Amino acid sequence: MPTIPPRVTSPKKLEASRRKNATRSSSSTADEASEADQRPTIWESLTPTQLREVEALAGEYREFLTEAKTERAVGQKLLAMAQTAGLRDLTQKGPSPQGGYLTHHGKLLGFFAPGQSPPSQGFNLIVAHGDAPRLDLKPRCLYEDHELAFLKSNLYGGLKKFQWLARPLALWGFCVLKDGREINFRFGEEPGEPVLTITDILPHLDSKVQRDKKLTEAFPAERLNALAASRPTGPAKAKDRLKKAAANILWKSWGLKEDDLISSELELVPAGPAREVGLDGSLIGGYGQDDRLSVFVAFKALLGRGQQPAKPLLLIIFDREEIGSYGSTGAETNFVTRLAARALESSGLNPDWRTVTEALANSLALSADVEAGLDPTFKEVHDELNAARLGRGPCLVRYTGGAGKYGASEARAEYMAHIRRVFDDNGVIWQSTLLGKQEYGGGGTVALSLAFHGLSVVDCGAPVLSMHSPFEVTSKADVWMTLKAMRAFFLKA
Ligand code: MN
Ligand code: MN
Repeated sequence: MPTIPPRVTSPKKLEASRRKNATRSSSSTADEASEADQRPTIWESLTPTQLREVEALAGEYREFLTEAKTERAVGQKLLAMAQTAGLRDLTQKGPSPQGGYLTHHGKLLGFFAPGQSPPSQGFNLIVAHGDAPRLDLKPRCLYEDHELAFLKSNLYGGLKKFQWLARPLALWGFCVLKDGREINFRFGEEPGEPVLTITDILPHLDSKVQRDKKLTEAFPAERLNALAASRPTGPAKAKDRLKKAAANILWKSWGLKEDDLISSELELVPAGPAREVGLDGSLIGGYGQDDRLSVFVAFKALLGRGQQPAKPLLLIIFDREEIGSYGSTGAETNFVTRLAARALESSGLNPDWRTVTEALANSLALSADVEAGLDPTFKEVHDELNAARLGRGPCLVRYTGGAGKYGASEARAEYMAHIRRVFDDNGVIWQSTLLGKQEYGGGGTVALSLAFHGLSVVDCGAPVLSMHSPFEVTSKADVWMTLKAMRAFFLKA
């Protein structure tokens, strides 16, 4: 479907609105705060050239979402792009004028770009996460039941289980054989290729097993089994004919024996490409936008920085954020310290403990993660005064956490003022938001793990609808403006 461009305000009107805004800010009246909603959205402020940029960026972004549906695929893609751009491995000796990268276990990536000031004085750091809620396969996952073969899944992250039933799923695999050979495969992504699916019960018969139950009990995780085969193999009386049929396919397609699945990372993800959404095509729908939107724009801001920044830059793409940041590739590791030490070393400085820890304590950080957008269908969960609106740009979220700010890293006032200034001075349309109403739930980001180093950090990201679902929705305008915000932070903060 072709994209119908949204209405663009005429340059004359735009100029008038700019002048009006300029008078407002100089008169600095108390009415300003309440006028937040009356400011033009990003769409209304775009010039025709900018509108073309928005569309081009959205196309590139959709491709990224389609191509990078696992944390490992994100890592592979970014690493290849970094190498093409001339970044070098920071574990190798010698200076890195273009900057460098550090990877850990193929899933955790750090990037460094030198600035005019030495790294010992602190970095401008952006972090995001490359993992997303999904269904992994269990190490022993293949079984048959009543002449159908299935793959048993295991939840990863906070997903709503019913959203994963009765829809096309793809299987992304990374398998390591005992002899060390690595096998990467994707099944179910090509048009015309079969997909997998998890079945659901028909409404005619669901009253005892689903309808009369609480939502939290109606969909037991152990029922999330993907249908794998239905055509038996071998003589009619042989045992496990369906399981064998599925196992044969694993062997023929990828050279995998059933035991090899034990040393494999097999992830079920929604099949198919990211799409444009809406009659006007102004939105983007796709899996994993939490937090690959931030990954995409932050990486683009780093590679496309164009000039040597005043301060040295770091970008980290963490794994395992969706399950609490634990594990060797998560934010609860010493990776930040290691990356900072390597950056110092590649700048000819001695990465001793004091220099590294002081550099980090003097750093400024954005914890780039998406924010819950205000969904008018569920507006009672939002505090509307502090809710994120689509089309109004990246959100600065001073604190996350649950009720009573438990588990929150809160940005101090001085730092909020600094980032406000940086964004405003560089034409970033942004919004100040909070996750939702108090006592309705809560959530957190890796800001907490960063704050451990004593650096200044605030959460910043674009609003998302249907977050954690197989089809998350964002605004093209917000993607574009978030890139602008990340660029401003890297170059001007
Ligand atoms: Mn996230
Ligand atoms: Mn999330």
